Amino acid sequence: MLDYIIVGLGLAGISFCETLEKHKKTFKVIADDSQKSSTVAGGLYNPVILKRFTISWNANEQLDIALPFYKDLENKLAVQLDYKIPVLRKFASIEEQNLWFEAADKPLLQPFLSTKILQNKNHGIDAPLGYGQVLGTGRIDTKQLQESYESYLLTKEGLLKESFVFKDLQFQENYISYQSIKARNIVFATGYGLKENPYFNYLPLNGTKGELLTIKAPSLKEKNVIKSSVFIIPLGVDLYRVGATYKWKDKTNVPTEEAKEELLEKLDSFLKCDYELVDHVAGIRPTVADRRPLVGRHPIHQNMYVLNGFGSRGVMIAPMASEKLLQFIENDEPLHKDMDIARFTKKYFKD
Ligand SMILES: Cc1cc2nc3c(=O)[nH]c(=O)nc-3n(C[C@H](O)[C@H](O)[C@H](O)COP(=O)(O)OP(=O)(O)OC[C@H]3O[C@@H](n4cnc5c(N)ncnc54)[C@H](O)[C@@H]3O)c2cc1C
Repeated sequence: MLDYIIVGLGLAGISFCETLEKHKKTFKVIADDSQKSSTVAGGLYNPVILKRFTISWNANEQLDIALPFYKDLENKLAVQLDYKIPVLRKFASIEEQNLWFEAADKPLLQPFLSTKILQNKNHGIDAPLGYGQVLGTGRIDTKQLQESYESYLLTKEGLLKESFVFKDLQFQENYISYQSIKARNIVFATGYGLKENPYFNYLPLNGTKGELLTIKAPSLKEKNVIKSSVFIIPLGVDLYRVGATYKWKDKTNVPTEEAKEELLEKLDSFLKCDYELVDHVAGIRPTVADRRPLVGRHPIHQNMYVLNGFGSRGVMIAPMASEKLLQFIENDEPLHKDMDIARFTKKYFKD
């Protein structure tokens, strides 16, 4: 008898596995490659919403948990995952500069917004009004994390690389059985795959498609993340990620010509050096109508749980939400009401 079955191995599944290991719980993961959000993500962690200059939901607690979490994973997997990189927000007008300084005065934002305007010294970028710097930011190499974590689990026979078959799931009195596996609990961490889950598809997961390009720009030599109409994220060896798009209709992981054109047009509006397009990827962000995670216990099946809804901020939210879910299951500690799926229980009984 295992303690847990986890379905899905993106940022949510990995974070939950790690939390279980820390608490000495046994588990097995079942995961396929149907969803790509964690594989293609830009991987940025940044507590500030750069459109409105406001702090993102619960950012301080998330960062406090996430940074040591990725550090421990780097040690465990012997790979670099966390690249501490400043994020520079390009100012498009004097009015924006003023809004930045107003925001930097607010107590919650003070630790994260530098009060100096940085002048642009890079000839490859057009930024005559300079930048505001966000402090305490960085990039997690989510693809490396997924690959390394998958290998780690395969070595200890903790992962079945296959799609979950819902008809093989059975509820016993105090446990769950799935094919030949028995476990006390099951946690679904399937990102946008939640839509196919007959137990949780009442939850209002919208899904927002995002596409990213990778370019090679040997003369750019930029070390910071630049945020203008799109992000430019340095990856090293003259490679940069450029993105991302937000689309609500198409729910496939297929890169489109339309998104490529949109990204290149935005990029060309401020990048003034030669570059070559080397990659183009797409994934569906698990976004929720009220922009809060979907975490908690099924309204009827007491040992079935969901860990989802991280939207465009999975890097920061996943470690915090995993720890909270485990404390909820094992120690009855209440979940933060903003992320508890209990807020949709009425909808479950109505649907
Ligand atoms: C273009 C783009 C850029 C992004 N940039 C950032 C960023 O810079 N910073 C940030 O924090 N976030 C970013 N995000 C968002 C981030 O990727 C997500 O918040 C996060 O990856 C969601 O993780 P998840 O584990 O919930 O879902 P997923 O990564 O989708 O993982 C779900 C897992 O479950 C598996 N699965 C699904 N259904 C089944 C099934 N039936 N059986 C077995 N396995 C199943 C999937 O194959 C996958 O392995 C970005 C997203 C996109 C698309």
